[in-house]
Amino acid sequence: MTQTGASSGTTSAGSDQVLLFCDWLNRQQWYDHFRAASVPVAWPEEIQNWAAVRYAIGWNFTAEVLSKMPGLRAIASMGAGVDHAIGPGIIPHGVEVVRIVDPLMAQRMATWVMWAVINFQRKMDMYGKAQAERRWDKKIENLKPWDNGEVRVGIMGFGVMGQASARLLVAAGYNVAAWARTRRTPTPTLAEDMDANGGGAVASVEGVHVYVGRDELRQFVERSDILVCLLPLTPETEGIINGEVLGWLPAGSGVINAARGRHVDEAALIKALDEGHVAGAILDVFATEPLPPESLLWSHPRIRITPHVSSITDVPNAVAQISENYRRLVSGLPLLNVVNKAAGY
Ligand code: NDP
Repeated sequence: MTQTGASSGTTSAGSDQVLLFCDWLNRQQWYDHFRAASVPVAWPEEIQNWAAVRYAIGWNFTAEVLSKMPGLRAIASMGAGVDHAIGPGIIPHGVEVVRIVDPLMAQRMATWVMWAVINFQRKMDMYGKAQAERRWDKKIENLKPWDNGEVRVGIMGFGVMGQASARLLVAAGYNVAAWARTRRTPTPTLAEDMDANGGGAVASVEGVHVYVGRDELRQFVERSDILVCLLPLTPETEGIINGEVLGWLPAGSGVINAARGRHVDEAALIKALDEGHVAGAILDVFATEPLPPESLLWSHPRIRITPHVSSITDVPNAVAQISENYRRLVSGLPLLNVVNKAAGY
């Protein structure tokens, strides 16, 4: 990995170096924020004693770089997802993985999801086409609005992102259900839930029925006019939006994916769109990123694309969380936002 742009500053020759491993465009900004927070980050080429590295911060670690750090105790993901670290199965045994849990990121995601739902519900792409053709077309919605209460939104994944999105949609009057891995019983009221979680993240959203597991997947999908994927990518969820699941959707439904591209069988989605069973798809993430110019998804008339921007990581908030975990590691305190490696998220 090479360092781009600005100077990396000096690194202490001390034993406490923290690896910073990433090739993002704004990587120097991360470096500078960590240094300002007194976290002794170093790029791979600056590490003086790999055996002494206990904490590694990054995105898309390679097996090669991880194998160089026998003393590694924890890995910090620079985003909410950890599939880039856990997925390839390269995390050494005994190494904890922590991730970002940021209300601002959740708000960013919820706003994008809300936009995508409205874009589909209100046929905004058709109005865009009409405008491009200078066509005043009041027949697009047939003067019969599809009102929020009639739109059944199904959110796959009811964690930090899914719940924030559900809350915003419920507040706007949409008919929202969710799908998760574990059952919430008994469903607490919002007040009870907030109490139980110290007023922070809640495990449920009032008014949202949560379907659970493969047994209830079909029932959940069959009641979803708009399916929104906010799942983590794990062996259980990879390819989950396949031809069979798309076939369970009501005719004329919409598919929104802001989780990971590999949740969706892209060929099956194109087929469902071409056949008209699925009326539109709004995709932020793709099996291959950047999406190659030759991909059929780019030019499909029923697909709207954004380039993995639905909820970018907020650098100051993420640096504060990752730095707090660094201080905890150094002080022997339990880490925050630890990932369940067995579950994969
Ligand atoms: P969380 O870990 O908070 O929530 C994950 C949710 O998915 C939980 O509700 C969990 O169920 C559910 N789930 C996991 N496995 C299964 C399964 N096998 N079957 C059914 N449900 C399952 O994750 P976040 O909400 O923070 O993030 C979700 C994903 O969103 C991230 O992993 C990342 O890939 C993606 N993301 C994308 C971004 C972008 O810019 N495009 C930005 C941020 C995140 P349960 O509640 O029972 O545990």
